[in-house]
Amino acid sequence: MNNTKNQDFGDNPTDVRKSDHYQEEYVTGFVDKWDELIDWESRAKGEGNTIINILKERGVKKVLDVATGTGFNSVRLLQAGFEVVSADGNPEMLAKAFENARKYGYLMRTVQADWRWMKQDVHENFDAIICLGNSFTHLFNERDRRKALAEFYALLKHDGVLLLDQRNYDSILDQGYSSKHAHYYCGDSVSVYPEHVDEGLARFRYEFLDNSVYYLNMFPLRKGYTRRLLHEVGFQEIKTLGDFKETYKEDEPDFFLHVAEKE
Ligand code: SAM
Repeated sequence: MNNTKNQDFGDNPTDVRKSDHYQEEYVTGFVDKWDELIDWESRAKGEGNTIINILKERGVKKVLDVATGTGFNSVRLLQAGFEVVSADGNPEMLAKAFENARKYGYLMRTVQADWRWMKQDVHENFDAIICLGNSFTHLFNERDRRKALAEFYALLKHDGVLLLDQRNYDSILDQGYSSKHAHYYCGDSVSVYPEHVDEGLARFRYEFLDNSVYYLNMFPLRKGYTRRLLHEVGFQEIKTLGDFKETYKEDEPDFFLHVAEKE
């Protein structure tokens, strides 16, 4: 049985290292499963109000969510009273997000836009941009990363802030992968682990309760590297939280959240 027939990684999946490939990876079956993968209630509990508080402390009103996915972050911000524009390069994700937002009573403002050419499709400025859920990892070369960050920078008001998160790839690359890093979401309904890791690729395997299996090929961003790029495109101050905490041992957190200020 080929559970991954809707995804196309060709004959050598670990050779697939392309920024455009996310469009092939978020196929219908996977998009439909995505909300099973990210159980909104438990995710909201784990996250608490950190992101909302960071935005409120800065007096943020208007937010651009550049990696809307199925809408989790956008809907949370709408619930907290922010004005939100929800963008994503993948139309299936946006359709799903719109439908999810409707269930919560919101009419989501969606824009289909690739990060690298965001300004072609988004013609407003924002107090904050969020790029969450380990999304930036989809870009496979430095030129694309610089281009995307420069577009985000330009779409922010002069005192705007970018919130961008990523997995702790340093720990996965340096400590090696061990089963303690296997993540089981929604109880045991989805297992997630990196099947292949090298300096240029982290290939994650997602297995659902119905035995369906999907993959995402991602670039393993090192924390220091992401921070350097943020500085180089012009962000003046960058604070990096580990699992939402200010102090942590480098290899402990699963996720880092970069809070990058324009001034
Ligand atoms: N933020 C959401 C969450 O946390 O639930 C969704 C994150 S999902 C892992 C990553 C999203 O980034 C996908 O919906 C994908 O379509 C989008 N994406 C990846 N590369 C992109 C690009 N170059 N331009 C625009 N969107 C992109």
